[in-house]
Parts: sequence; C-alpha cells; structure tokens
Amino acid sequence: MKEKLVCIGNGMAGVRTLEELLKLDPEKYDITVLGTELYGNYNRILLSPVLAGEKNIDDIILNSQEWYDQNGITLYTGHTVTQINRIKREITSDQDVTIKYDRLLIATGSNPFIIPIPGHNLPGVVSFRDITDVEAMLAASRHGQYAVVIGGGLLGLEAANGLMKQGMDVTVVHLLDTLMERQLDKPAATLLKTSLEQRGIKFLMEAQTAEIIGTEQVTAVRFKDGLEIPANIVVMAVGIRPNTTLAKAAGIYCERGIIVNDTMQTYDPRIYAVGECVQHRGQAYGLVAPLYEQAKVCANHLADMGIARYSGSVVSTRLKVTGIELFSAGDFLGNGKTEEIIFQDPAQGIYKKLVVHNNYIKGAVMYGDTVDSAWYLQLMREQADIGHIRDKLLFGQAYALGSALGGTAASAVTLMSDDTQICGCNGVCKGTIVKTITNEGLTTLEQVRLHTKASASCGSCSHLVEQILAITVKDYHNTAPKKKAMCHCTELSHDEVQTAIKQQHLTSIAQIFDQLAWKNPDGCQVCRPALNYYLLAHFPAEVKDDYQSRFINERVHANIQKDGTYSVVPRMWGGLTNPQELRAIANVVEKFNIPTVKMTGGQRIDLLGVKKTDLPAVWADLNQAGLVSGYAYGKAVRTVKTCVGSEWCRFGTQPAMELGVKLEKMTWGSWTPHKFKMAVSGCPRNCAEVTIKDFGVIGVEAGWEIHVGGNGGIKVRVTDLLCKVTTPEEVLEYCGAFMQLYRENARYLERTAPWIERVGLDYVKQQLVADNDNRQSLFRRFLESQHFAQAEDPWIARALGGLDAHEFKPLKQVTTSEIKVVALPEEEVA
Ligand SMILES: Cc1cc2nc3c(=O)[nH]c(=O)nc-3n(C[C@H](O)[C@H](O)[C@H](O)COP(=O)(O)OP(=O)(O)OC[C@H]3O[C@@H](n4cnc5c(N)ncnc54)[C@H](O)[C@@H]3O)c2cc1C
Ligand code: SF4
Repeated sequence: MKEKLVCIGNGMAGVRTLEELLKLDPEKYDITVLGTELYGNYNRILLSPVLAGEKNIDDIILNSQEWYDQNGITLYTGHTVTQINRIKREITSDQDVTIKYDRLLIATGSNPFIIPIPGHNLPGVVSFRDITDVEAMLAASRHGQYAVVIGGGLLGLEAANGLMKQGMDVTVVHLLDTLMERQLDKPAATLLKTSLEQRGIKFLMEAQTAEIIGTEQVTAVRFKDGLEIPANIVVMAVGIRPNTTLAKAAGIYCERGIIVNDTMQTYDPRIYAVGECVQHRGQAYGLVAPLYEQAKVCANHLADMGIARYSGSVVSTRLKVTGIELFSAGDFLGNGKTEEIIFQDPAQGIYKKLVVHNNYIKGAVMYGDTVDSAWYLQLMREQADIGHIRDKLLFGQAYALGSALGGTAASAVTLMSDDTQICGCNGVCKGTIVKTITNEGLTTLEQVRLHTKASASCGSCSHLVEQILAITVKDYHNTAPKKKAMCHCTELSHDEVQTAIKQQHLTSIAQIFDQLAWKNPDGCQVCRPALNYYLLAHFPAEVKDDYQSRFINERVHANIQKDGTYSVVPRMWGGLTNPQELRAIANVVEKFNIPTVKMTGGQRIDLLGVKKTDLPAVWADLNQAGLVSGYAYGKAVRTVKTCVGSEWCRFGTQPAMELGVKLEKMTWGSWTPHKFKMAVSGCPRNCAEVTIKDFGVIGVEAGWEIHVGGNGGIKVRVTDLLCKVTTPEEVLEYCGAFMQLYRENARYLERTAPWIERVGLDYVKQQLVADNDNRQSLFRRFLESQHFAQAEDPWIARALGGLDAHEFKPLKQVTTSEIKVVALPEEEVA
C-alpha cells in the first residue's frame, strides 16, 4: 500500500513541492491536499495584474481540478485544517474531515498584518492576499471613487496601481519618508515616487493613521494630525506574519515561523514545512524564488532521495507595475565597511547602485535600467571577485566583459554562463532554457514558458528569455512573431495601430477601441496617451485633444517635481529675452515666493517650486508680459538653443539667433512622439552643441548644414548630417518636413535617435532630400497641423479662460461626523 502524504495549504509552496515530488516519484504516495480557499491552486503573484485589469482569474490558475485528478490527488477546497494530532498521525478540518498521514507537509503561508486601529474591522477594510481581497477591491472600484492604501511597500504600491487603473482616486499612506524602504534606498525610492505620482497616485508620507471612519462601511481615514481623507475602500498592506497557528497548537517548535532544518523538516521529522510559514536559519521569506528552492529540496526528501540541502536564498525584488523598471537584491544599504558604486541620471530617471565589500558585490539597487540585474545577482550569488572589472561594472555585462559582441543587450545574454539564473521565481537557469529550446525545437516565448516555466510567474525576466530565444534559434526573427503589442489592451503593434488610424480614418479614441476590438474597454495608461498623440498627428483638424489621456505634466502644463510642486518655463524665442520679460519673471518670483530660479540647459529660465494652486495666477502674470508656455513639460518642441552667431561673434558666418527665433516661432506648440530639441550655431565651432540635438543647424560659408537624430542623454548619439542648404527658408522647410516625417512615422515615446537607427538614415534622406515633392508635401502637412497646434497658448487658456480649473483647485473635504471643511495639501487635489 502507498504511504499517505497530506499537504495543508493549497498555495504556491505546497503544490510546487507536490509537482517536484511527482517528477521524482509519482507513485510513492496517496496524496491529499486541503486548502482554505475555494479556488484551485493559483499564482498569487499575479493577483496584482488581475487587480490592474491586465489578467483575469482564469489566466492565473496554475493547476486545475483535472491536474489533481490526473495525478490521483484528493483535493479539499474550502477546508481549513484545525488540528494536527501527532500521536494518531491525523489531521482534522473545520468541516470534520479527518485524514491519516504517514508524512505531513505544512504550507500555510502567511497572514497579512492588520493594524488594530479603531475601525480596522469595518466592511471595506481589506488586505491584499487572495482572490477574495481582489474581488472586494474590484467591487469597490465599481461603486466608489476613493481608495486609501496603507503601506508603501511592494504590495501596497501594486494595490495602489491596480486600483488607480480601475479608475479610483488613490492615496498611499506611508509611515516613513521612503517608499519600499526594505528594498530601495532614498534616491531610487524618490524616482519611483515621482514616477507613480506622474501616473496619478497620491502619497501621504510620514503619516500615521489614527482611525478608520464609518458606520456600516468605511467612509474616511483620519490621521494623527487631524487630517481626514475620504475612502470607499481601505487596503492594509503593512506586512505579513508567517501563519504558524496550527503548527504551534500541535506543539511543533516555532519562533517567528515554523523552524525547519536544511531538509525542510520541522522538529517532528515526519512533518515538513515549506513556504512563507517557515523560518530557516533565522530567515523567513516573503517571495516565491526561495520557496520554490525549498520545494525542490523538500520533494527530494519526501521521495527518499536524501541528497538535497537548502542553505538559504539570495533574494531579489521587482515591482509589477507596467513600465516601471526596478530591481533590488541583498544588502543594498551597506554599512561602514562597504563601498558604493553609483550611477545616477535623474533626468533620464536612471539610478544604479552596487554595494561592494572587498571586491565582492553584497547588494544592488537599480531603477530605470535593470537590464543587467540578472548578471549582478549571479555575481552576488557566486560571490565572484569583481576587482578586475570594477571600473566598468556599472555599465553592464556586455561592456564590462568586452565589447567584442557589440555591447548590446543580446550580447550581454550571450556572455552569461549557463548557470546564470534567468527566472528567479522559478529558479530556471540559462543553460536549461537553451537546452530545452534546442531539444524541443521551441520558437516562441509562450512555448518556453510552457516547457521551462521561465518567465511564467511575475514575468519580469521575459525580455531575457526572449533574448535567449533570439541567440539560440537560428533565424529566430523569421520564425518567431516579430511584432510587439502596443500594450496588454490589444494584440496590435504601434505601427499597425497607426496604419489603421490612417487607413480607416479613425478620429477618436472611442472609435479606435471599437473598430480595432480593444480588449480593455477603457484602454490603459500606455495606450491612451499614444492613441491621443497618433490621432492629433494624423488628423489635426478633426481630432479633439483628449485631456484625460495625457500624463500629469501635460494635463497641468507644468513639470511636476519631486516634492509635488511644479516648475514653470516661459518660452524665450531662440534663447533671447529683454528687460520687460526679466522684470515680469522677477516680479512673479517675488509675488509667489518661488524658491528657485534656474537656467535650463536649453537657455531658458526655470521657475522651480510653484504650488499647483498658484499655477494659473503665475501664468496670468507671465502672459501679461507677453511670455507664453515653453512646453518644457511635454512630448513637444522644447527649445531652439542658439549661439550668438554672426550677429555678435567674431567667428560667426551666419545669423544663428535670427534663424533660431524663426525656427522656434514656426515649430512651437507641435506635439511630437517624444520631446524634440533644436539648436543653431553660427559657424562650425558649434557653440550651441547642435550635434546632440534632434534637429541641428550649423552655419557654414556657403549656407547651412542640417543635422538630425542627435541625443545628449544617457545614450549619447551624435547627429547624422542630412544635407547642406543655402538659405534660411530651406532650413525652415527641411525642419518642418523632418518633424512631420518623424511625427507621422515614429512610435509614441520614441526619440529621433532610436527612430533614425530603426528606419535608417537612408530612408530619411530618401524621403526628404531625394524626393522634393515629398519634402514639400510633408512641410505643407506640418504647417497645416501648426495652424491648430498654435491656435492658443495653453497657459492663457487656463489662466484667463478658466479651462480645466478643477485641476488647480484644492479638494474640499466634508466629514460625516461634523460638517467640517478641510483644505488638503497640494497633491490631494483631484
Ligand atoms: C498580491 C501579491 C503579489 C505578490 N507578488 C510577488 C512577486 O512579484 N514576487 C514574489 O516572489 N512574490 C510575490 N508575492 C509573494 C508570493 O505570492 C508568496 O511568497 C507565495 O505565494 C507564498 O506561498 P505559500 O505557499 O507559502 O503561501 P500561499 O501561496 O499563501 O499558500 C498558503 C495557502 O494555505 C492556505 N491555508 C492557510 N492555513 C490553512 C489551514 N489551516 N488549512 C488549510 N489551508 C490553509 C491559505 O489559504 C493559502 O491558500 C506576492 C504576494 C501577493 C499577495
Ligand atoms: S558657433 Fe561660431 S558663431 Fe557661434 S558663438 Fe561659436 S564661434 Fe561664434
């Protein structure tokens, strides 16, 4: 007769152990699983995408009832085990089912911690742990407007993102001044906060919740300082505690978690424990990668193979918020004995830090660019000596190990050793993926997921798996699907959507959703701004700008800064100004107590630290002096930088300032796929740094050289010479035509530099230089579009016309207990 194995907990660790066991010895046990939840075994990690509307419950089921049936496993869902009788070797559930065991596996996970403040048990206060919680949040988003998430850690932020994507007005409340303080240091956390704020999430930092208010249902949250904010739902995401109740009651030794040894056995050798409920060598884990490693070892011992040992895990963290690249591992804060290697580019939103001790990496935190994170993690796990590549380490694997392969992301993957772990969640190495691809003849990401589980959990290693596919499969590009969907709302790529807009003459976002069978009826933060842009670029006369589809900076026509205030940059044509403008700026600075006045890199004056509520009044005063919006916040034409040219310079051969002013007057207000910068130099000495701009002009003896596709950011790209012309009028024509080609052709959020590399300089030359008719026609379309784009300065419309006035008004708060009006701080504005 087979031995009896009972597993308490139908979650990720317990069932993974059974999967591993079935691989080793499928016939050894009669297996029974009991789980409190009514659902089958599902991927808890993916509750966040379900809440965000990116997946549904069916998508996240790991093993359906058929799997249990096929493997002869008896499953009791909706059964909570209430007792373990170690003498009789049996367990009992709350539904009076008693089952005998020869070996027992406890995998009861964690319980979310609920702060016991007044009102914590009101309906509408939920944790973020299981499907029921997600259902409660989705229901709240259908009926209410305000969500408060208590806890700015990984789960809290994923909950906030999901609720925001369901259309709620979300405030995250955090006790400390740094988000995700257990995974991020201050600079990375600041970048993260800014990025989430730009998406519309509000934050109350260093705020202590005093009470959750409501009678039959939560209605508001009150803080220690008396501030009150409305809430239709309150999500508590302040931490988890290993669920040891059952084990403790059975006399199994527990501390914070159930104590296990290196073979995952508890103090009772017949009883094993895995997952978040355990404590191993003093450590309890709250992530999937370690518990999958534990599951492997546990299965090995349940199968009586007795060779595996679990010695603890080096864990890493990522945040599952689409579009946010964040990675953290090990000791990322360091101590007096460690050193830090840091790369920081706030403008690009990139921050990387490695904590090093005696030339060994101890920890890493990176934001914005995480392409090399798997490599750093590998170096950490292997405790590799990095002394010989220390100076190149932060530039990534391809660069540090030699540029022979071109220094690209694909080359970084090529250089990885076979035992580099690619998928942390499922513990899959590069070698396994390559072997499976080759042996099974796989050609798509989906197939690799199915066969190896790599990237099947949180999905953050998908790009690495794709690159392994690309280097392993001959002619991968011919066999695998080439296109990348625009976002999760559609299967169509950016190019296909643009073509459809043009060919089907679609003139509103609603029409696109309808005609192109959008999966998500409201779209998402990725597709909506892109669609709004494409519509405006293709049909400027017919399309109405969709205010709701713009990012916060464009919605309020100012730049949000790290403390929630805004910066305002008035336009100064060609970088020129005069006493009247300077006086107006000085008066505004004094009148509105603006703390910082700074020159920008594009020769304009930046007024930093303006309160959102002051913006319309600041603009009104600036407008009076003739100053208009500099569009310094938008995916739009920014500035035309100039040198002093032949007007003042001894070397100048051409009038750079005059041409700069003309170019700026012609192009201002134009929305472009990404920000667009220009410059004009009066001679080849090039003092205006033309050769790192999107469109640059250099004066030469016989006229002007036109340069395109430059970028001065993190990935510096020097411009390509497009052509030489003789008159300023020709420069203007080439400029308009080039911009229009870029506007109609590039993908949203693609700068000119990557666009030119993608389409090729020859294509651009063909369109603009070789084909005069085409150039003139592009130029005509550009001017036609400017007719609408320059119709009105957005600041005037908002300062004097009261447009979007609600954006700039503070929210008034009415409590139920007393009619009291509280003005909320700046970022509480709806
Ligand atoms: C929203 C969310 C997002 C996450 N994102 C990530 C991520 O991106 N990356 C990552 O690595 N990790 C992530 N995690 C953590 C990860 O999901 C957990 O580490 C993992 O699920 C723990 O597995 P487990 O089996 O130990 O516990 P669980 O998966 O929670 O399973 C325990 C099960 O046991 C049941 N149970 C408890 N007591 C009893 C009892 N007495 N009788 C019967 N059944 C019982 C519970 O109902 C539960 O179903 C996330 C977690 C959540 C909630
Ligand atoms: S680029 Fe030439 S014209 Fe312009 S300031 Fe420099 S030297 Fe003078």
